[in-house]
Amino acid sequence: MLSEKMKALGVKKSVIREIFEYAKIRKAQIGAENVFDYSIGNPSVPSPESVKETLLSLISEREPTQLHGYTSAQGDLGVRKAIADYLNETYQADASEDLIYLTVGAAAALTISLNAVLSDGENEEVIVFAPFFPEYKVFIEKAGGKICPVPCAEPDFQIDFDAFEKSLSSKTKAVIVNSPNNPTGVVLSENTILALTAILKKAEKTFGHPIYLIADEPYRELVYNGVEVPYLTRYYDNTIVCYSFSKALSLPGERIGYILVSSKATDAKSVYAAVLGAGRALGFVCAPSLFQYMIPSCLGKTSDISVYDKNRKLLYDSLTEYGYTCASPDGAFYLFVKALEADAYAFCERAKKYELLLVPSDDFGFPGYVRIAYCVTTEQIERSLPAFEALANDYKN
Ligand code: PLP
Repeated sequence: MLSEKMKALGVKKSVIREIFEYAKIRKAQIGAENVFDYSIGNPSVPSPESVKETLLSLISEREPTQLHGYTSAQGDLGVRKAIADYLNETYQADASEDLIYLTVGAAAALTISLNAVLSDGENEEVIVFAPFFPEYKVFIEKAGGKICPVPCAEPDFQIDFDAFEKSLSSKTKAVIVNSPNNPTGVVLSENTILALTAILKKAEKTFGHPIYLIADEPYRELVYNGVEVPYLTRYYDNTIVCYSFSKALSLPGERIGYILVSSKATDAKSVYAAVLGAGRALGFVCAPSLFQYMIPSCLGKTSDISVYDKNRKLLYDSLTEYGYTCASPDGAFYLFVKALEADAYAFCERAKKYELLLVPSDDFGFPGYVRIAYCVTTEQIERSLPAFEALANDYKN
């Protein structure tokens, strides 16, 4: 007998992946330039030059068996120290290299953190704010927890505090926040973080146990108009940061990120030990060594995000002019657009007539919208605008 749960996950791919695969087929049929693929969050601008330079010098100068060998399970000490120094200098994060664990991207950081904090079989709950990254459900359930989505308030997709407070219970073990957000592009302001953490601190007292705030931050540096992304260890003690270099450095296929357990977390050393144990039980061994060693010289650097900013403005201005309603995006590289009919799947099917490949929002836990990943060339956006306009007119006629 197979695991039916695992089989189901393998058979029904994520909706994003399904459209991404469809795009490949369609491009082969009619030419890539005729398909407007907005399905996946694959960065479209190259990594900064420092990534290539560092990798080349590592390969030419370091002894190969050391460079490609296993590192400590938690990652190389020098690399962890460089990350801690950077976080302390940049965000006054109170970070310690002894509480940093290098991971295979944010996905592994999340699944390890969830396995570390959820005690299997006790039906503990993890609150997420909808719309949310669909893999949260998979990761939470695999770690033995129950996902509790709390819808954000339209039209600005900030947190609905009343709904949040009502969803907290003695079963709540963790809350995941993702800012800048996939799929809305919304950034949580400092006031929002203050209100959120005040509610959480009160709930910790009421229920008498830590409630972990898991900050999923692969888009931290992808912000526009000088918007600030508050660093959560400064606001809440029981914080676990899940960071990734996938998006800021355009390296999603290389799989590198980290977990930071706040040094102010209750019994932080035990939380970190549980992180190590979860990484071990899940078979991660260690994060890719070459990309670990790349980190120190690339901290704080990003790909040229002005391209995303240009795409964002062009798409947002044009779509609103054609009559679409979009969440105002301050970060990441996604636009969340209200479908022009109640069923977002039907809307996406109709968009396909114009070769527009959009992702319906149902799997993000917030039906009725579509996600547009605008990490594409500006030229693709320019060429696709008539298609977006024609699709809107379809609904007017
Ligand atoms: N969290 C969010 C919100 C994401 O959008 C993604 C990837 O798109 C991930 C986590 C996983 O990122 P990584 O490639 O670092 O595993």
